[in-house]
Amino acid sequence: MQSEFSYKNPKTLLNKGTGYLSGYTHSLNPYTGCSFGCSYCYVRQMPVSLFRKGEWGTWVDIKLDAAELLRKELRKAKAKGKVTIFMSSSTDPYQPIEYKERVTRSHLEVMVEDPPDFLLVQTRSPLVRRDIDLLLRLGDRVRVSMTVETDLEGIRKVFTPAAPPINARFKTLELLKEAGVPTQATIAPVLPSSEDFPKKLKPLVSRVCVDDYFMGDGSGGKRTKKLGVRTLYDQLGLEEWYEPSAYRLVVDRLKQVFPEEQIYLSQQGFEP
Ligand code: SF4
Repeated sequence: MQSEFSYKNPKTLLNKGTGYLSGYTHSLNPYTGCSFGCSYCYVRQMPVSLFRKGEWGTWVDIKLDAAELLRKELRKAKAKGKVTIFMSSSTDPYQPIEYKERVTRSHLEVMVEDPPDFLLVQTRSPLVRRDIDLLLRLGDRVRVSMTVETDLEGIRKVFTPAAPPINARFKTLELLKEAGVPTQATIAPVLPSSEDFPKKLKPLVSRVCVDDYFMGDGSGGKRTKKLGVRTLYDQLGLEEWYEPSAYRLVVDRLKQVFPEEQIYLSQQGFEP
């Protein structure tokens, strides 16, 4: 899917952490729109997508002069108290355009100079490895949360054909670990996976977060229902994985390999 790119001057960058992100003081989205265009993306049902002509995944707005604005907003926010930032809630900060535009990297540069109390970097892209130098400078104030919804590449291709391959994400987790960047594997939303999934994760992370449509889409699964993702499960003959109880199978499998204190559920797994 080709994406259409536009440059925009944002009015604000740091938004108040609300709802699912109420554990954070702020959320930060370096882009508006996301060319990964995942089938189950709950942002499809939000005003930012609904009021736009192009389908979610086909357009991206690149925020201009964002570093300067972030520097000002961060200074102001820090003067008021603790600052914890979730990057990003409605885009992937390391989607392909970031190779060229480096908006996310410019945000990290600002945060290295004037660190927030905590930064969570939520991505599914191996490009995050480019910024290991900056992530290291944030020390234990940062955690990279890498989405790995399944270990099965065939399943990934059905649900998120434009997203990076699963093996590249495993490799990235390995590189981040070797470098000493705090990480977690985020199985969210839970997609059909193999019994060996936890064994594949074990050497890579000591923290795993599990979430699904019913706990994590902000509407008890209603938003996801509207997206019609269920038909993909029907086509695959894997309807049992689209059940509010499906995540338990994954958690039970994880428990055979990981100690319980390393397994986090839903919102808890994203807390600062
Ligand atoms: S990467 Fe995240 S923000 Fe982008 S389309 Fe997929 S779920 Fe949505």
